[in-house]
Amino acid sequence: MTNEKYYRKAAEIVREVIKKEKARVKPGVKILDLAEEIEDKIKRKGGKPAFPVNISINEVAAHYSPTIKDETEIRQHDVVKVDIGVHVEGYIVDAAWTFIFNEKHGNLAKTTDEALKRAIEAIKPGKKIGEIGSIIEKTIKKGGYKPISNLSGHMLKRYVLHAGKSIPNVKTITFQKIKEGEVYAVEPFATNGKGEVRETNRFTIFRLMRRVDMYGTSLEDRVTRYIQENYGTLPFASRWLAEKFEAALAQFTLRKLVRKGVIHPYGVLVEVKGGLVAQSETTVIVSRSGVLRLL
Ligand code: MN
Ligand code: MN
Repeated sequence: MTNEKYYRKAAEIVREVIKKEKARVKPGVKILDLAEEIEDKIKRKGGKPAFPVNISINEVAAHYSPTIKDETEIRQHDVVKVDIGVHVEGYIVDAAWTFIFNEKHGNLAKTTDEALKRAIEAIKPGKKIGEIGSIIEKTIKKGGYKPISNLSGHMLKRYVLHAGKSIPNVKTITFQKIKEGEVYAVEPFATNGKGEVRETNRFTIFRLMRRVDMYGTSLEDRVTRYIQENYGTLPFASRWLAEKFEAALAQFTLRKLVRKGVIHPYGVLVEVKGGLVAQSETTVIVSRSGVLRLL
């Protein structure tokens, strides 16, 4: 199996899962149920979540995964982003969709879809990364919204979600170029707010900073070992630890590990002016003449 075959397998899993789950993203549904269904299906189909399913609503742009006792239900006026990552043998496909049930927000998601389409059409070896950002920015502004300037797409590598290069959502001056064989998640974000997100001190997603040797029997050591064995250095949800440890203890231990710098916490990202946020994301492999769009 070549790398491309692994990527195609991961993409196939994302495609099958979202095809079924799309109909479940609707008012009255609990986002915890949704996240668990999606993650279960990923595993049953032979993939692994590359990160916890992010279900970010309205002004929340990213980095929210339902908590263990999350009671949040989708409401009629919500703008819901579902962001899914699947890996097969470490080869990651990252994709997201925005769901809108109220027509007055309609163009927000259409705008990010259009920006994604245009960005992908422009990607080819030798293309400057900043030019892709410019295309995204123009398309979103033409749609009447603002691009979120401090969020970006990113290069993917085996077991690495953010592998160096970024694809901005706005025009930037950079000489970095796209190269054949690279893999990118492209993800335009648009808002009717200011066009910027800030990190809050609410944490639902975490990541082991680096691999460590832990042989002790303390709870900290056992939790760290469990994280390393199951998720490596890919992001995980605090919710996932409850499959093995008592939830409150796991939370307490996570906080300790964060203070020690062993674990990185991802703060929930919200639009600075509380604007509604839409996101469209897919993963592409850069080919000789353009891209292979995996989804
Ligand atoms: Mn994503
Ligand atoms: Mn991404």
